[in-house]
Amino acid sequence: MYPSPLPSAEMSPAGPEMMTLFAQVLPYSRLFIGIEVEEYLALLHGCMVRDTKPGEVLIAPGGINHNVMLILSGSLSIHLGHYSSEAVGVVKAGESVGELSIIGHSLTSAWVVSTCAGKLLVIDETRLWAMIDKVPAIARNLLLIMAGWITSVNRRVLEQREQIDMLQEVSRIDSLTGLFNRRWFDESLHRLLHGRQPARVVSLILLDIDHFKKFNDAHGHPGGDQALRVLADVLKASVRPNDVAARYGGEEFALILPETTLQAALVVAERIRHSILEQPIRAADGQILPSITISLGIAESESDITPEQLTERADGKLYQAKNEGRNRICF
Ligand code: GH3
Ligand code: MG
Ligand code: MG
Repeated sequence: MYPSPLPSAEMSPAGPEMMTLFAQVLPYSRLFIGIEVEEYLALLHGCMVRDTKPGEVLIAPGGINHNVMLILSGSLSIHLGHYSSEAVGVVKAGESVGELSIIGHSLTSAWVVSTCAGKLLVIDETRLWAMIDKVPAIARNLLLIMAGWITSVNRRVLEQREQIDMLQEVSRIDSLTGLFNRRWFDESLHRLLHGRQPARVVSLILLDIDHFKKFNDAHGHPGGDQALRVLADVLKASVRPNDVAARYGGEEFALILPETTLQAALVVAERIRHSILEQPIRAADGQILPSITISLGIAESESDITPEQLTERADGKLYQAKNEGRNRICF
């Protein structure tokens, strides 16, 4: 259950004892910029004041709000989604909340929670509209306040957009090697075979490190990880921008080569096989480990082939390369 905002019964009229607080806060409030003290005090005559407790929910999303709450002391935090989520903003003495829903005649859209004990000046909507009608400076100040809210919301949306982009990027990259991950491989192969603009021909190379278990046993898991990174770098250096180099799983990798015939893919595969043979693998302590070998299987697409069928074919060829002695290519 969400805590609901407290009933308005907790309010009391602002008496003379509030004058000191008014004098401290209102001259600096954006709502009263350009308005004489006597004039805004007259506009506020008879306004209610309410106390806030720490953690008290003043506004909940999806509700109807009738009051602008101007903070006299304490501060309020603004939350989207859930009231216990991280605050997207904090509103302090002299600032106010509630204008947007009143002026826009809209349901409330955020949680407003009191962060500490404090006091709020409550301006109800009837009074707010009367103030707007009577004093143009109030209308102008409200426009500025609302422009500030809109700017901060826009900034928030932009930040979230960047976060989404970043998460999307992370979600398709394998963290150890920096290559695309299995998920992106599956999506890419499907797109290239059956997407809106399918490639005329796709070659798929599957490759697997030979006797990698022994390599790990001899040089430790970190040494093995280093070998995986070195191989990944060789693959990155061997592909064109439109190719997809992915970690298919464990010590198995895949290259999707669009618009590439089997013959052309064979040239790429041979270059990679040769290149990794000569690639030194440097352990974290600087020690040079023996180089690795890989086995490769290649298959070329034909019309109506499914991603699964193409992968199975390349995998069959990889299996054959292993059986025929490893460190070789079958197609
Ligand atoms: P084969 O030549 O038949 O492919 O033999 P293999 O030893 O390479 O194959 P096997 O499937 O027996 O062993 C694969 C090894 O790869 C075992 C596993 O620990 C290792 N491996 C898989 N993922 C990782 C990883 O992320 N890091 C490290 N260091 N090793 C991994
Ligand atoms: Mg292996
Ligand atoms: Mg394997």
